[in-house]
Amino acid sequence: MVRQFADEQIIPNAEHYDHEDSFPEPIVEQMKELGLFGVTIPEEYGGMGLDLTTYAMIVEELSRGWISISGIVNTHFIGSYLLMKFGSEEQKQKYLPRMATGEIRAAFSLSEPECGSDVQAIKSTAKKVDGDLYEINGQKMWVTNGLLSGVVFTLVKTDPSAEPKYKGMTCFICEKQPGVNENTGEYRGFDVPPKIKKLGYKGVESTELVFDGYRTPADSILGGETAGLGQGFVQMMDALEVGRVNVAARGVGIAQRALELALRYSQQRKTFGREIAQHQAIQFKLADMATQVDAARLLTIRAARLKDAGERSDLEAGMAKLFASEAGRLCVEESFRIHGGYGYSKEYEIERLYRDAPLLLIGEGTSEIQRMVIGRKLLERNKI
Ligand SMILES: Cc1cc2nc3c(=O)[nH]c(=O)nc-3n(C[C@H](O)[C@H](O)[C@H](O)COP(=O)(O)OP(=O)(O)OC[C@H]3O[C@@H](n4cnc5c(N)ncnc54)[C@H](O)[C@@H]3O)c2cc1C
Repeated sequence: MVRQFADEQIIPNAEHYDHEDSFPEPIVEQMKELGLFGVTIPEEYGGMGLDLTTYAMIVEELSRGWISISGIVNTHFIGSYLLMKFGSEEQKQKYLPRMATGEIRAAFSLSEPECGSDVQAIKSTAKKVDGDLYEINGQKMWVTNGLLSGVVFTLVKTDPSAEPKYKGMTCFICEKQPGVNENTGEYRGFDVPPKIKKLGYKGVESTELVFDGYRTPADSILGGETAGLGQGFVQMMDALEVGRVNVAARGVGIAQRALELALRYSQQRKTFGREIAQHQAIQFKLADMATQVDAARLLTIRAARLKDAGERSDLEAGMAKLFASEAGRLCVEESFRIHGGYGYSKEYEIERLYRDAPLLLIGEGTSEIQRMVIGRKLLERNKI
């Protein structure tokens, strides 16, 4: 069903929204109707209650259509995972039913202007000020869905002098008005500057967030104040593990689309009296691409299945993310080469994929960071 949706609704319209860099509202409305914002949310909260493996397959198809569409769902998925795993019952009741329908959408925010990989170096703070209220100050960077989301899962320091640092970090569920740059009233002090101009990954907005005296109740701490204070780093790292499976699925999707485009174009274009697909050098490229796509898909599904089975999947999720994001870049570049000069033209879809694919090498942990995670986990599991 999602594959058909991508073929009929996403692929034919992606070029328009990419070119305008505008939010694909009609596509998102249809996704709400299909229930795609509540895929992993339990049925008792209005979602479909499906597992991570099924979700990964859905994300692959959305990303095959257009990576920005999977980006609109991605941060929402992480937000719902955080609530499902760490939220208090009150928080689940408050947000999950409206998130399952897509009525409110979620973003998550770790990165800051001066740090991304080194999450423990964040500077934003929350301080208890008045009875039950915390005041948040600081600046966040690169928040996907930063403007149109209604809740942002925001990591800040509640104890900047804590050692080790991660023990002084807390995740707040920050509410705001979707689509508003300068919030007022109860959300005063929470501003969203104009969206960041990007190479690709258009349509879905990436923004900074500015917290300047934003006040939020203690029970907006993920899990509640007693259970959640000082737990933010651990909670976010847990969510990033499933987030990595999700990014891996996006890599598979974009790689698959690049392969499809290459298979089609190479059987249409002729040089030296025959279709370029008949040249062995082109067939080798197609063979390498198809092998990369399959290997990336299998790694992704393995990581998702392990997680679904309740087994450790940190190492496997890191491998899947690393391999699939690199496979996405590689397949897109090979497909681009196969398109010759036309690959450089905006008339051809591969041009968009060429601008979109590099994001996956960076978001939710760069390839270097994945290698660090994989190396560390390998040593942990093979201690002598
Ligand atoms: C379009 C887009 C959307 C994003 N969406 C979100 C979002 O929704 N929420 C959010 O919180 N963040 C988001 N991010 C931020 C993203 O997670 C960070 O950009 C990423 O984690 C890298 O951090 P950085 O950019 O600060 O790079 P840095 O951490 O400064 O790294 C710079 C370079 O140094 C390398 N490096 C860093 N440390 C090491 C090391 N120890 N050893 C070897 N190499 C190292 C990195 O791999 C990289 O090559 C988004 C980014 C982009 C571009």
